Amino acid sequence: MAETTNLGYPRIGKQRELKRAVERYWSGKTGEDDAQAVAAEVRRGAWAVQQQAGIDHIPCNDFTFYDHMLDMACFLGLVPDRFQHTAGQPVSLATYSTMARGGDGIAALEMTKWFDTNYHYLVPELNGPDPRRSGNAPVDAYREAKAQVGAAAMPVIVGPLTFTLLGKHHAKPIAEHVADLLPIYRDLLSDLYREGAEWVQIDEPCLVQDRSREELDLYASVYADLAGGNHPKIMLATYFGDLGPNWEAVMALPVEGIGIDFVRQGGNIRDFEVKRFPADKVLAAGVVNGRGVWRADLDSALGRLETIQSHVDAQRIWVGPSCSLLFLPHDKRLETSLDDDVLANLSFAEQRLDEIRTLADGLNKGRDAIADALAANRDRLRNRGHSVYNHEPTQQRVRALTDADATRAEPFAARREQQDARLNLPAFPTTTIGSFPQAGDVRSMRARLRSGKISAAEYDAYVKGKMDELIAKQEQIGLDVLVHGEFERTDMVEYFAEQLSGFVATEHGWVQSYGSRCVRPPIIVGDVYRPEPMTVETSVYAQSRTRRPMKGMLTGPVTILNWSFAREDIPRSVVCHQIALALRDEVSDLEQGGIGIIQIDEPALREGLPLRRADWDEYLDWAIRAFRLASSSAAPGTQIHTHMCYSEFNDIIDAIKAMDADVISIENSRSNEELLEAFTDNKYEQMIGPGVYDIHSPAVPETEAIIERLRHATRVLGPDVMWVNPDCGLKTRNDAEVWPSLRNMVEAAKKVRAAV
Ligand code: GLN
Ligand code: ZN
Repeated sequence: MAETTNLGYPRIGKQRELKRAVERYWSGKTGEDDAQAVAAEVRRGAWAVQQQAGIDHIPCNDFTFYDHMLDMACFLGLVPDRFQHTAGQPVSLATYSTMARGGDGIAALEMTKWFDTNYHYLVPELNGPDPRRSGNAPVDAYREAKAQVGAAAMPVIVGPLTFTLLGKHHAKPIAEHVADLLPIYRDLLSDLYREGAEWVQIDEPCLVQDRSREELDLYASVYADLAGGNHPKIMLATYFGDLGPNWEAVMALPVEGIGIDFVRQGGNIRDFEVKRFPADKVLAAGVVNGRGVWRADLDSALGRLETIQSHVDAQRIWVGPSCSLLFLPHDKRLETSLDDDVLANLSFAEQRLDEIRTLADGLNKGRDAIADALAANRDRLRNRGHSVYNHEPTQQRVRALTDADATRAEPFAARREQQDARLNLPAFPTTTIGSFPQAGDVRSMRARLRSGKISAAEYDAYVKGKMDELIAKQEQIGLDVLVHGEFERTDMVEYFAEQLSGFVATEHGWVQSYGSRCVRPPIIVGDVYRPEPMTVETSVYAQSRTRRPMKGMLTGPVTILNWSFAREDIPRSVVCHQIALALRDEVSDLEQGGIGIIQIDEPALREGLPLRRADWDEYLDWAIRAFRLASSSAAPGTQIHTHMCYSEFNDIIDAIKAMDADVISIENSRSNEELLEAFTDNKYEQMIGPGVYDIHSPAVPETEAIIERLRHATRVLGPDVMWVNPDCGLKTRNDAEVWPSLRNMVEAAKKVRAAV
């Protein structure tokens, strides 16, 4: 009989209990006991749900207070010296929290996106103290789970290679780092074995990326080493895509089971059929989507399982999700305001578990045994085809697009002349990225609007007041290009999703973004179009309050797509182009309203890059085209800006160039030589605002330090193309930090301007 498995479960709690408990603990309102008690309750709840759903292999040690990579780093004793940890001791929750969030003058570990998801992990520092086992956390987690779910409990750990490859290293070969970690991994496996764990899941998602021959050889020797000691059976989990050219190397690893993602791309099932699967291993078949919220197509998932079963004995098949369910909200049954058609077509984490059970039953007992579920599923999928959310005019518009629609009327040089004449800005123009601090007052007004305590008119008047104040202050300190502050936006994607047709919002669809921070990604349920202007009234009002140029602020199509749950019935590229067309109309209306500069933010463009290089071009083609569709109807005299908050441009510089924005503002807080050179080496001719200070830090930058950065960037880029701005939006800072910083920035720009 085929069994069922799960690779990981959401850990924030159905009502975000963990978030609240952890934040209470951080603020000092409660002690560690409270946080520990809530955490235990969250774990207990997750295990109970999975047990009731009939999952045979239930993950444990997948829980974390902040991040699973940080947990592993702590267990391995990779606590950098600045945290003053005693080697070999378990890491306290206090130290752990400081590693995650930083402390008095102590920098946190760096944070970055987990593969191409919106989840952020903390980057382990392998260049600090030597690794040394610290505490017993994974074993304790197993014991706790075993007491509740018995033999079903399956500890999950990040594999030694994925852990190392994602970390920051010394300048020594990866193999040496891994060799230092291996004894600790062996020790852990042997403990888990002694505790009675039948299986351990070892996550190695790095296997779906491009890997060199040496790296694959290293995989072979590392797993041979682990297999040499006492250990539970190893289920090596790969996920987020195809194994591709790594297929043979992975199949040859001396492990008892291999988990394969059969959802995300088509390559794994093709390779499976052609190259087969080793007869002595268990196959954990990921056949329901851990990264999207649409109900599984049970017929086709079962078909896939049947194909697998024709080559692999049923008792060696585990039915499971494509990856951890961490990326899904907990339970769709909490939603009360979605319409029934939409709701019927969604599956959050709890619903995925039911799908897994149903599919395993179908495989074990035959299609007849799940005939009702299959029929209901078919009906729902059919209904989705003639959804009220279809919009024929939008589909036609996308079909009719030509290259001309994605091309500005004039080349940059000609546009620049017209823009210079119109805007009349000094050299080194100063501006900001858009948002300003949203203190408690903004949030409480929004809450009062939602609860009906104030009227929409009162709220509007309040937001206008905030804008007036902000505009006056920007003029006063001498910024050249102003912004309205984005006070009306909670979130740069949600704000547009709420106004565009084709999106729905959830009430409880929270997923972890990092630590205690959760987001509720909007769900794209139909064709996207713009029923009416979204930002025009606000921007036109803001422009009316000043003679200086006021930037219109839009979130770009790729970012809106990447930070939403997208439809799965049409290609992402089509969804993206629909969003782009809606924004294109917005750009035209802003122009009509007299807005001369429009910024279209694309912070998520890079993180959407496919995990393998070979797939980059296809993605970049449609993503860049989407940006161009959104921006290219602008008249030559309208200046299009874009903003990106990351600094690795070198490998996608051609695509950035092809966006053809007139000005790009970028993160450059580490004043990275390479970054600047990417722009010069590649003859980037448009204007650039390399962030002159790091907004992620509360520190106020000195004028001299900013001048130094500006001079440096100018030497590389040349004075004609330079803009002066912080490296990202200021929403998360407070006024006491923002205004002195901006004053220094303006002063620095004036000095540099005077000198050229
Ligand atoms: N305009 C946005 C802001 O300033 C950009 C945010 C971002 O880059 N993530 O908040
Ligand atoms: Zn940014």
